Amino acid sequence: MNSLKSVLLNISIPFFIFLLFLFIAYYEAKIPEIIFNLVPYLFYGISVLILWVSWHFNRNRFIFIVVPLLLVNAGFEYLSAKKATDLFLYVSLLYPLHLLIFLSLRERGLFSIWGILKILFFLLEIGVVSYLVVNPNDSLIALFKIKLFAASFYPLQDLSFAIGIFVLFIMGALLIFNRYLIYNSSFFVITVTFYAGLYFIKTAHAYDLSMLAIGVIIFILLIRESYRLAFYDELTSLPGRRALVEDMAKLGMKYSLAMIDIDHFKKFNDTYGHDTGDEVLKMVASRLANVGGGGKAYRYGGEEFVLLFPSKDADESYTHTDILRDAIAKSPFSIRNKKSSKTIYVNISSGVVQKSSKDRDPFAVMKRADNALYKAKKAGRNQVIKA
Ligand code: GH3
Ligand code: MG
Ligand code: MG
Repeated sequence: MNSLKSVLLNISIPFFIFLLFLFIAYYEAKIPEIIFNLVPYLFYGISVLILWVSWHFNRNRFIFIVVPLLLVNAGFEYLSAKKATDLFLYVSLLYPLHLLIFLSLRERGLFSIWGILKILFFLLEIGVVSYLVVNPNDSLIALFKIKLFAASFYPLQDLSFAIGIFVLFIMGALLIFNRYLIYNSSFFVITVTFYAGLYFIKTAHAYDLSMLAIGVIIFILLIRESYRLAFYDELTSLPGRRALVEDMAKLGMKYSLAMIDIDHFKKFNDTYGHDTGDEVLKMVASRLANVGGGGKAYRYGGEEFVLLFPSKDADESYTHTDILRDAIAKSPFSIRNKKSSKTIYVNISSGVVQKSSKDRDPFAVMKRADNALYKAKKAGRNQVIKA
């Protein structure tokens, strides 16, 4: 489960973009018309960028998100009013579900089996919608216009409103329980933005602005995602070594650091398997992530972690690290496999140091912490030693 703070922090970025565009739409009359004439072209521009980046960095999900919007735009532009109205109906029903499906499907190569299945599914969606737009089916349309609520959300139909609530409910649950916060928060806001654009479609520029807002949200999501890939460890979701070195360079003269290593982890892997080893790493990492004293946890590599305590001395850091060591040592970890289930315990050892004026760079501090850690191992493990 994600903390409220991290959910709010993550959703604030796309939500800010949404509000910005809402603001522009609201004060539309005060803004020169020429700017709004550019909006559709800006959307095409950012779409091309998104497609290019998605293709190059194997983030194909966004191709499936942006291409339908481009097709719908073309439809609204070139279809007769009657056909465009039908397209509006189908898209308002299908696109939110489409967003949810492509958010949930794992990212895979476009030309893998899964990638090809995705392409086929996508072509099927386009085929069905195109067929229905070209060959209007009145009884189907009547079915989609079924009345469900006392209130009216015109031009949205009740059914698409209900689908929207359903999709946002699932996305909201993902936001709380799933760890890919960057994606889930952005998709949540994209869905809201999409509905806002459709709901206000009669208002000048609102729809074009909503498309551009979605483009900007996706583009920023891609930037944040590449930052996450560079600085965060995939298995534990902790920041990695690169982030540690950067953060240490930013810190002032006073900070301290704990180097942590899991005890006898190799034996653990050999006995219970690498997958269980990974689970243990995640468990230890989630404990370390909640360190007190303003500390921050990093995965240094393998089964080694670092806790960084800005403006804390060695004694304070020792206290917080030892609390964690004790908590981890007392946490039962249950192993379940086909045959049996068993409860085991893991221990960690740690070396704590405070930066001194003799340390020329962050690496010198880490080296001393590593020596202290070595002493903790020598002294029998499951302990913290202060250098
Ligand atoms: P010590 O108490 O002296 O630290 O003993 P140790 O066995 O923990 O020490 P060592 O450094 O020799 O072993 C580390 C092991 O960690 C080796 C490697 O198989 C395992 N390991 C490193 N990264 C991962 C990982 O991402 N997943 C899993 N499951 N194991 C990992
Ligand atoms: Mg080690
Ligand atoms: Mg170890």
